[in-house]
Amino acid sequence: MCNFCFNIEYEKFATQIDFVEFDLLLNKKLEAKILVVLGLREHRKLVSDYIYKCTKCDVIWCLSSPDNAWRGYFLKERNANKLIKKLKDNQEKKDKGCLMVLCITIIIILILAFI
Ligand SMILES: [Zn+2]
Repeated sequence: MCNFCFNIEYEKFATQIDFVEFDLLLNKKLEAKILVVLGLREHRKLVSDYIYKCTKCDVIWCLSSPDNAWRGYFLKERNANKLIKKLKDNQEKKDKGCLMVLCITIIIILILAFI
């Protein structure tokens, strides 16, 4: 993190305007070659990140663009990874919850069928 790239991280972009303003700043830094694009990575279709590297301080930044309910983020790699892990854990909990509801429903149907 340095004064050339960004000195704050965005856990989310609260509004589309926030993101547009950020995007303008990002594009300026890309044009000035302060940041370079390293690539794109996907996290099991959960979110995808554009990866940028600061040519001044070597910090790796991850950008996920907002999309409807998803508010995106712009974080240093380590913090982005933490956030993604949290999202994956929540998704797994949700999946397990759905499976549990399905099992209980089937059991109730079976019990009712045999009464
Ligand atoms: Zn930097």
